[in-house]
Amino acid sequence: MPELPEVETIKNGLTPHLENTIIQQIIVREPRLRWPIPTILQSCLNHQKIIQLSRRGKYLFIHLNTGTLIIHLGMSGSLRILTAESDPKPHDHVDFILTNQTLLRYRDPRRFGAILWTEDDPNVHPLIKDIGMEPLDDTFTGDYLHQQAFSRHAPIKSFIMNSKIVAGIGTIYATEALYLAKIHPTKPVNLITLSQYTQLVASIKLVLTKAITAGGTSLKDFVNSEGKPGYFSQQLTAYGRSGLPCLFCGNPLQTMTLGQRSTVFCQQCQE
Ligand SMILES: [Zn+2]
Repeated sequence: MPELPEVETIKNGLTPHLENTIIQQIIVREPRLRWPIPTILQSCLNHQKIIQLSRRGKYLFIHLNTGTLIIHLGMSGSLRILTAESDPKPHDHVDFILTNQTLLRYRDPRRFGAILWTEDDPNVHPLIKDIGMEPLDDTFTGDYLHQQAFSRHAPIKSFIMNSKIVAGIGTIYATEALYLAKIHPTKPVNLITLSQYTQLVASIKLVLTKAITAGGTSLKDFVNSEGKPGYFSQQLTAYGRSGLPCLFCGNPLQTMTLGQRSTVFCQQCQE
């Protein structure tokens, strides 16, 4: 599932291909995504100029003159820029045909993604308005998490994956950040100190920034290739390494189930 760094990378990769282009037509082969693609999209997008791309949490915004496309990639969605004559393959559900002989193609085999439209500020959209702080903003600090944790008892991993607390952190980067900060995934949030939260926030920013940087070097994977969602697995130190030696102490990393997801941790290093 694409997480924040993947969506940021997709945004950065698509921006030079989309900004200041004009949408000629939209072709919807399969409208049944997580929510139906709005039928008004055809008339709303017709000959509209793309002004800018931005991101909020795991949502991609494509800002036009008349409103904003809100796109979520769900479990398996991808976006690619292709030449206008590229034939669609199975699961290529939507094409945005541009006037410059290219198209933006949305593929989504599992159809958990979304393509929505708003003429209002997208930040007040029902799906967006309750999203918590952006983790890479300067306002996201150890102090903030420490205050939010007051009188709560949730396990820390669930807490940092709660998008109302902080945006866009899924299981991969939560696992990584907790491992680097040496905090056990099940530790109740009210038992974590301010200095641990400061360390955790630094770790979250580090793993996200590293992933975005790694994504920048593999942009072509998002833009022109087969459109597999990107996972920057070469960067990962805990996620996907169950049974392999801990990078800090050499003991085998363990797996447990938390909130119906398996999570990897080091029994020795994470308290
Ligand atoms: Zn260890």
